[in-house]
Amino acid sequence: MSINILNQPSNKLINLIFALVLVLGMAVSGVVFYKGENIAQKTVDLIAQQIPSYDLLSKLNGSLIEKERFLYEFYATQQQSDFQLGYAKSNLQAQNAFDELLVRFGDIPPLRITQSSLVELNKLAEAFVANITSTETNWDLAREQLRTISDVRRATSPQIQQLINLTEQKVEDSEMVILNGLELVRLFVVLYGFATLIVAFIVAKAIKAYLYTSVYNQRLSLFSTRNPNPVISLDNRNVVTYYNPATENLLKNLGFAEGKVDLLLAKDIEEHQKQLLEEGANDSKQFEYQIAELYFQCDLHWLEDLQQWDMHLTDITERKKFEQELQYRASFNPQTGLLNRYELEKAVTELCQTKQTFTFGLLEIRSFSQLMSGQGVTVAATVVKEVASALDNILLSIHKTGFRIFHTGEKSFALVCTCDLNNQQINNLVEQIDAKISSTIFHCQYQVQLDFGFANAPQHGSDYTQLHKNALAALDKSARSGDKSHVVFNIQLGDKLFYQQQLVEDMRTAIEKAQFELYFQPQLALSNNKIIGAEALIRWERNGQWIAPGEFIPLAERDGLIDSLGDWILHTACKKAQNLVNSGWKDLVMAVNISPLQFGRKDFLSKVKGVLKETGLEAKNLELEVTEGVIIYNELEAIETLEELKKLGVHLAIDDFGTGYSSLSYLRKFNIDKLKIDQSFIQDIQHQAADQSIVRTIIELGRNLELKVIAEGVEGLEQQDILASMGCDEIQGFYFSRPLPEQQFIDFVERHQVISSPN
Ligand code: C2E
Ligand code: CA
Ligand code: CA
Repeated sequence: MSINILNQPSNKLINLIFALVLVLGMAVSGVVFYKGENIAQKTVDLIAQQIPSYDLLSKLNGSLIEKERFLYEFYATQQQSDFQLGYAKSNLQAQNAFDELLVRFGDIPPLRITQSSLVELNKLAEAFVANITSTETNWDLAREQLRTISDVRRATSPQIQQLINLTEQKVEDSEMVILNGLELVRLFVVLYGFATLIVAFIVAKAIKAYLYTSVYNQRLSLFSTRNPNPVISLDNRNVVTYYNPATENLLKNLGFAEGKVDLLLAKDIEEHQKQLLEEGANDSKQFEYQIAELYFQCDLHWLEDLQQWDMHLTDITERKKFEQELQYRASFNPQTGLLNRYELEKAVTELCQTKQTFTFGLLEIRSFSQLMSGQGVTVAATVVKEVASALDNILLSIHKTGFRIFHTGEKSFALVCTCDLNNQQINNLVEQIDAKISSTIFHCQYQVQLDFGFANAPQHGSDYTQLHKNALAALDKSARSGDKSHVVFNIQLGDKLFYQQQLVEDMRTAIEKAQFELYFQPQLALSNNKIIGAEALIRWERNGQWIAPGEFIPLAERDGLIDSLGDWILHTACKKAQNLVNSGWKDLVMAVNISPLQFGRKDFLSKVKGVLKETGLEAKNLELEVTEGVIIYNELEAIETLEELKKLGVHLAIDDFGTGYSSLSYLRKFNIDKLKIDQSFIQDIQHQAADQSIVRTIIELGRNLELKVIAEGVEGLEQQDILASMGCDEIQGFYFSRPLPEQQFIDFVERHQVISSPN
C-alpha cells in the first residue's frame, strides 16, 4: 500500500492559491491606496478650500458691517482721521476677502452680484464722505445716503448666505466621498482578512498533510525494510536507487553477487514500464517472470512525483509449481506419467477431424480386482506402473512413430495408431505385446494378462464416443471370452451394442412405470419336505418377449440403473413376503438377490432397515443372497454391513457358491447363514464324480461351519436323491417348482401343504 499523493493538495494547487492570494492582495492594496489618495485629496480640499471659505465669507460680511459702522460714526462725530483709518482698513479687508473668494469660487453669480454691490457701496460711501466733508453739508442727504448704504450692504447678505450654503454643500459632498471611501477600504480590508484566513487554513492543512505524508512515508520506508518480500526502486533511467534487506537475501539465495540487483529485474521490464505509462501512470501493473528456478510476481508502480519506479516482488514459485502440477495432471496420469483419458479424447477427436484412417485400441489388465484383493492396493499400483512402462517400451520398440499410449483408468490403457492396421497387423501387434508382457517379471512375480479391444476409424466410428464405445464392446467380448485376448469390433458387435442401448432405454421407462414383476421359486427342506421360503426372481416382459435377468441385470449395473431397480425389488419382495406372513405363513423366508453394486452402497443398510419398517416385515423373514465377490472385494466395508445386517436378524446366503473364489478362509470371518451351491455343480451331478465330490465337500464344510446348505438348479429326482443322501439341507429347482407368479406360488404352497401334511 502506498499513500496517494493526489489526496493531498498538490503543489500546483497550492501555487495557484498563493498566486490568487497575491493578486487579491495587490488588488486590495491598489484599491486601498487609490481610495486613501482620494480621501486625502478630499480632506485637503476640505481643509484648504472649504474651511477658509467660511472664514473669508464671514470676514467679508464682517468688513462690510464694519465699513457701514465707520460711515455711521463719521456721520455722528465728523472725526475724519479716525474714520479714514478704520474705513480704509475695513475696505481693504473686504476687498481682500472678496478677491480670495473670487479665486476660490470663480466667477459665479452670487459673487458677481456681491462685487457690483461692493462697487456700488464704495461709490455711495465716496459720495457720502464728500457730502460730509464739504463745507455745506447736506445733512438730509447724508442721512438719505446712509440709509441707501445700509440697504445696499444688507443686500449683500443673501449672496453671502448663498455662498455659505454652497460651501456647506461642498463640505457635505466631501464628507460623503470620504465616508464612502472609508467604507470601501474597510470592506476590502475585511475581505482581505478573510482571504488571508482561508489561505492560512489551506496552508495549515497542507503543512499537516505534508507532515502526515512524511511520517507515513517514514513508516512505509520502514515497511519495506521489514518487508520479507524484495522491494526495489529504480529511477527514470532504470538505475537501482533502493533495495530492501529481503532483496539482499534473495541475491544471496540465488548465488548472485552482492548488490547485483539488476539481475533480479525482468528482462522485459522496459516493455512493462511502457505499457504501464500508456495505461495511465496512476495504476500499478502486475506481471510474472522467472529468475533462475524461482517465479516471481512483480507489482510495478510509477511514482510521478518522485520520478521513480517501485517494484514489489512476491515469490510465487509454490503456486506456479502447483499450477504446473495441475496442468500436468490435466494431461498426464500422475501414477504412470502416460497421457490420460482427456488427452486420448483430444487426440482421437483431432484425428477424426482430419478424416484420417487410424486404429483405436483399449487394453485392460485381466483379473485386476483379484490382484487388488489378493495382493493389496500398493502392489497392484506397482504392477500397473510396470505394465505402463512395459507397454510404452514395447510400442516404442515396435514402431518408432505412429503409436501413442494412454493410461485412461486404474487398470485401463488405450493406444492410437495413426497407421490403419488390418486384422492381421492387429494380430501381430497383440502377439508382440503379449509376448513381451508374458516374458516380463512383474512385482511379486505377478503374471499379467491383457485383454484388447480394437476399432478402426472411420470404419467403426467417426467420433471419439462411437469409436470408444465400439472398442469397449470389443474389449468386453475379449474379457468375457476369457481365452481370446483380443477382439476387433465388427458388425455383429455393433448390432449387439445397439440392441443393448435400446434395452437400457426401455429399462429406464420400465423402472419409471414399474413394469417389472417378481416371480417366486419355492425352496424345499429335504429333512421334512416343507417349503421354507422362496427366492424372488425378477421378470420383465418387453414388447411381448421375456428378457432374461441374466441379460438386463448386468446392463442395469453397467448403466447405473441397478440402484432404483434394486430398491424396487427389495421393497416389492418384502411387501409380498409380509402378505404371506399375514396370511399365516409366519416362518417364511424370502430370499432376495442383491447386486454387488447395491450391497456396496453406503446407504444399503439404512435402505434395508427402511424397507423392513415400511412393509412391516420382520428381519427373520428376509434373506439376502450375495455372491462371494461382494464380500471378498470389499472386505472391510462388507464385514461391517454384514455384521449390522446380522444384528438386525436378516439371513445371509452366499449365492453361486463354489464358482468364484478359491479361498474359503473368508467363510470363517463372516457371519453367514447359508451356502447356495451353484447350479453348475448340480446340472450333471448324477454323472460327474468330480461334481459329486465338490458338492459333498461343500456340504461338509457347511456342516463344520454350522451353515445351512442349499442346492439350486435341481432338475430331476435323481439329483435330489443324491443331494439328500449327501445331507444337503435344502433344494431349489425346476424339479420341485419353476419360479412362479405370486398367485400361482400361493396356490402351489397351499397344495403342497395339503400333500405334505395330509392330516
Ligand atoms: P441366480 O440368483 O443364480 O438365480 C437362479 C437362476 O436359476 C434363476 O434364473 C432361476 O430361474 C434359474 N433356475 C432355477 N431353477 C433352475 C433349474 O432347475 N434349472 C435351471 N437351468 N435354472 C434354474 P433367472 O431368474 O433367469 O436369473 C438369472 C440371474 O439373474 C440370477 O441368478 C440372478 O443372478 C439374477 N437375478 C434374477 N433375479 C434377480 C433379482 O431380483 N435381483 C438381482 N440382483 N439379480 C437377479
Ligand atoms: Ca440367487
Ligand atoms: Ca445362483
